[in-house]
Amino acid sequence: MKTGSRPISNLLIAACTLLLCACGETGQARTAPGITLVIHGGAGTMSRKEITPERERQYREILSRVLESGFAILEEGGGSLDAVEHAIRIMEDSPLFNAGKGAVFTNEGKNEMDALIMSGAERNAGAVASVTTIKNPIRAARAVLEHSQHVLLAGRGAEKFAAEQGLEIVDPAYFFTQRRWDALQKAKEKSSTNPRKDDWKKFGTVGALALDARGNLAAGTSTGGLTNKLYGRVGDSPIIGAGTYANNDTCAVSGTGQGEYFMRNLVGYDVSALMEYAGLPLAEAARKVIHEKLTGLGGRGGIIAMDKDGHIAMPFNTEGMYRGYISTHGEPHVFIYGDE
Ligand code: ASP
Repeated sequence: MKTGSRPISNLLIAACTLLLCACGETGQARTAPGITLVIHGGAGTMSRKEITPERERQYREILSRVLESGFAILEEGGGSLDAVEHAIRIMEDSPLFNAGKGAVFTNEGKNEMDALIMSGAERNAGAVASVTTIKNPIRAARAVLEHSQHVLLAGRGAEKFAAEQGLEIVDPAYFFTQRRWDALQKAKEKSSTNPRKDDWKKFGTVGALALDARGNLAAGTSTGGLTNKLYGRVGDSPIIGAGTYANNDTCAVSGTGQGEYFMRNLVGYDVSALMEYAGLPLAEAARKVIHEKLTGLGGRGGIIAMDKDGHIAMPFNTEGMYRGYISTHGEPHVFIYGDE
């Protein structure tokens, strides 16, 4: 296993991991600087009461698999964009997450997906919004980054572009899952009597951050958005600086939660700006943005964040967040609940 330039003892890693997870918020894992992959699979009301042991096992298993296979790319000298795209693609293909197969439904009963990938080296990005037929929206976002002079393509144009780039186009029925359909019916029943009350309860967006051997950061996020959202609604995930951001001088960030609040707070960029202009360390910047600013406005959700030295923070103000990281020692660390 590749080791970083400042190897530290397993004991220290365990202690810092504990710190990171025990508070479920501000922990700064002092993984040795070096290649690192961090992922999330959405934040929300995940309590041990609500998740069956079998479901929990499935989530832990896939999150570990995503970390290991994304990390293999970094170990082989691959770039951070490749690792991020790869990790997100696996989660998009899994019905467990609200991205790609398994995306949530709009009020009209459609799956409209958003994705963004950003390189911290050039601060260049590619994004797609409101797409309904692209099997892997994150691949389309990467194609926008690399093969267009634009940053964000939406709707039919994005789908046309993806087809021209040779990406896999599927019938919208591919994205159907019974679980998400039932969730829409439930949300509709509830919102007719008590609109918005349940809106924040379950997210499932996926995101990944990578730091490669050349010291380049990348961030990506992919989502079906919010259950019962209005036609044409675009969330924070494909908006640079809101749900996703990467800058080699500061940090990479991917968020999950109520997109409208993430957009209004420019969550991803705000973490970076606090580091750049106020000189805050990553953990403090991330804590402030989630626990003071987002929470202060009434927004729910969380972020994964990593600085240019491989320090990570995963604050959230929901009960749980599917999340994990893997670094120099090659051991995947996966967490779900707030008390882990
Ligand atoms: N942030 C996403 C959105 O608002 C939802 C999520 O994180 O699950 O589109």
